[in-house]
Amino acid sequence: MFRYMKILNKNFSGPTSVRYLSSFEKFKRWYRDLWYPKGPAPPFKHVSQLGDPTLRLKSSEVVLDELSSERIKNILLVLRGVMKHYKAIGISAPQIGIPLRIIMIEIPDSLVEKFGPETCKTREIVPTPFKVFINPVMQVKDFKKTLFPEACESLKGISAIVPRYRAVHVKGYEYDGSPTEWDATGWAARIVQHEMDHLDGQIYTDIMESKSLQVDLWKKINVHQGKILIKYNK
Ligand SMILES: [Zn+2]
Repeated sequence: MFRYMKILNKNFSGPTSVRYLSSFEKFKRWYRDLWYPKGPAPPFKHVSQLGDPTLRLKSSEVVLDELSSERIKNILLVLRGVMKHYKAIGISAPQIGIPLRIIMIEIPDSLVEKFGPETCKTREIVPTPFKVFINPVMQVKDFKKTLFPEACESLKGISAIVPRYRAVHVKGYEYDGSPTEWDATGWAARIVQHEMDHLDGQIYTDIMESKSLQVDLWKKINVHQGKILIKYNK
C-alpha cells in the first residue's frame, strides 16, 4: 500500500495528475476507513479529543420535558460514568460527542490530598460534592482574575496557565428537572468556567497564556528517550 501511494505521488506534477488525484483521494478514503472504521455512535464511553468537530459546536439546550426519556437518561448516565472513569473534576456533554448543555463537577478529597495544603490554599481548592447542571447559566461574581495551570481531558497530556474569574454563580437544572444554583469560588469557579466554555465550543487554549503551554510529561520523555505511551482511555 505504501509503495502504491509513493507511485501516485510522483504523478501529481503533470497535467494528468487531476485524474490520479481523484482516484488517489478515493484510495485514501478507502485506506483510512480500512484502518479507522466507524466506531460506536455517541455518547462515547471515552473522552473525545480536540479535532472532533463536536468540541467546537455551540451546544443546544436540553428540552426539560425529555429529561425522563431513555436517550437523555442514558447520556447523563454515560457522562457520569466517563467522569468517574477518568477521575475528572469537571466534564461536559460535548466531550462524549453530545452537543447538549450539560456539565458535571466534583472535587474529591483525594485531589485536595494530592495537591497538599499549601497549593490548595493558594488555588482555593476545597472538596466539592458532585453537582450536575443541565442548561447552566453562569454569572460572574468576582471579576478578579486568577492565573493557574489548567488541563483538559480533551487535550490529553498538555496544560497551560489560564486566566479565570475568581467567583461565579451558576444555575441550572438537576437530573429530575428541579432548579439548582451554586456560588462557586476559586478552583470550583475555574472548573465551572472551563466546562461552560465547552458548551460554546471554546477550549482553554483559546484564552491561555500561550507561552505557558507545555507537554506535562516532557521530563519523563527525555529520561525515557521518547519511549512514552500515552493512552486516550484510562
Ligand atoms: Zn475540558
